[in-house]
Amino acid sequence: MDTTVMLPAGVSTEQFSKAIAEFRLLLGEDNVLATAERVVPYTKLLIPTEDDASFMPSGALTPGSVEEVQKILAICNRYKLPVWPISTGRNWGYGSASPATPGQLILDLRKMNKIIEIDVDSCTALLEPGVTYQQLYDHLKENNIPLMLDVPTIGPMVGPVGNTLDRGVGYTPYGEHFMMQCGMEVVLANGEILRTGMGSVPKAKTWQAFKWGYGPYVDGIFTQSNFGVVTKMGLWLMPKPPVIKPFMVRYQNESDVVKAIDAMRPLRINQLIPNVVLFMHGHYETAICKTRAEVTSDPGPISEPDARKVFKELGIGYWNVYFALYGTAEQIAVNEKIVRSIIEPSGGEIVTEAEAGDNILFHHHKQLMCGEMTMEEMNIYRWRGAGGGACWFAPVAQVKGQEAELQVKLAQRVLAKHNLDYTAGFAIGWRDLHHIIDVLYDRNNAEEKKRAYACFDELIEVFAAEGFASYRTNIAFMDKVAKKFGSTNMHVNQQIKKALDPNGILAPGKSGIHLPD
Ligand SMILES: Cc1cc2nc3c(=O)[nH]c(=O)nc-3n(C[C@H](O)[C@H](O)[C@H](O)COP(=O)(O)OP(=O)(O)OC[C@H]3O[C@@H](n4cnc5c(N)ncnc54)[C@H](O)[C@@H]3O)c2cc1C
Repeated sequence: MDTTVMLPAGVSTEQFSKAIAEFRLLLGEDNVLATAERVVPYTKLLIPTEDDASFMPSGALTPGSVEEVQKILAICNRYKLPVWPISTGRNWGYGSASPATPGQLILDLRKMNKIIEIDVDSCTALLEPGVTYQQLYDHLKENNIPLMLDVPTIGPMVGPVGNTLDRGVGYTPYGEHFMMQCGMEVVLANGEILRTGMGSVPKAKTWQAFKWGYGPYVDGIFTQSNFGVVTKMGLWLMPKPPVIKPFMVRYQNESDVVKAIDAMRPLRINQLIPNVVLFMHGHYETAICKTRAEVTSDPGPISEPDARKVFKELGIGYWNVYFALYGTAEQIAVNEKIVRSIIEPSGGEIVTEAEAGDNILFHHHKQLMCGEMTMEEMNIYRWRGAGGGACWFAPVAQVKGQEAELQVKLAQRVLAKHNLDYTAGFAIGWRDLHHIIDVLYDRNNAEEKKRAYACFDELIEVFAAEGFASYRTNIAFMDKVAKKFGSTNMHVNQQIKKALDPNGILAPGKSGIHLPD
């Protein structure tokens, strides 16, 4: 047998070898990766862990069809082998492609990458999991289809299905991705195929048009979960408006967070600003452009003079707010007046493209708000050194200034205690703030990695004490975050797990969900 990296708990070497032989028969040699060497691409963690081996897969399978997925799950049920489904597998800062418990086989769906349908009239898409945003973007462009995408900040390499299943966000009016999802095909652990919403009605043409179907709405239980393998997903796409006008608002003091967030609330709720707004701290913006060593030689918190010096150079403030208006020139002119009348009294300096000149950060965010492809934000991983360690701490708040300020202070206190920086921002949704704090550290520095882990752990506790919890977390902390949502929540998830996946073969540990004892 090939040297495997790590076997799943309770599975003997002999049983594993037999299962691998069956997978090879089913998928062919090239689609069964079960040697230490071939598993390496699935082990590239950015997050800090106590022990990377706890997240080591045993191998990977790369099926090419729904039928193969069904047959894989049948084999897994027979051998009690756990599989961790990924679509494009670049869940960076949340665990990359690695599983939440050791020895799982990665079910890598990247070869299932067909754009099945784009309905130009209804502005919908039906996609397989391996489709990347870049692929979809190119398809729309090549076929002259006047629809735009909503991408996370590293769009080209990641994909809409995986991102939506982890309830990710982007920065156009379609930024809350799960809200724009419509219809799924799911292979259940027993091999049955469920089409959600209208998808199970023979001859129905409304699968991508009407989300709710009839009876209980179940799409949500297949997101951030381990109840099924999603093999198709419907999405709504936004028609390209005639004009997109991007804006940046600079606030020069850290304490401006209260009035700046309060100004945004009515604008978002009333949809005067229709896109998911990025509200970025200057340190995060700086990390896109520079390394920490270029900003300060002080290992402690970045001093205000050091910060202001670099902010000036980059043309940013302590807080930088990015939004856009979409529509005809006439619509935008009307809305711009209203938006300005609310933002200006809050003390923000409004910058349009005309004033921005070659401001790198303005143009970076403009691309995101236009659904364009950019990878610039990957630069943040150079911040503390070549090791590129990072993990997103992502607690939710209301769009209320005082709440945002409390979260900023809590985060800064904990990060400073562990000698790490507050490199963060908020994504402002309709009623919520996603506070996106990237805990950046150097993964080559064992001591710093340890500190980053302890810091993340403490952030969860300190925020929970104030009633805050995360919308999403990384594989090392899934159990811990799940506990913050209470025992009944956990019990319900376990009962669903038991009913849909009695052998626990699908992604054990995802979102803290395991079979009940
Ligand atoms: C610099 C930087 C910026 C980022 N910015 C953003 C951002 O703006 N917004 C954002 O949301 N994220 C962001 N991320 C985080 C992450 O990289 C993206 O969310 C990315 O889209 C997730 O990876 P993916 O699309 O390859 O999904 P995958 O890794 O394929 O999927 C994510 C998870 O969903 C589950 N899953 C995937 N496919 C299936 C399936 N078919 N069936 C069942 N379960 C499945 C698995 O648990 C998997 O781990 C950023 C990361 C970095 C490094």
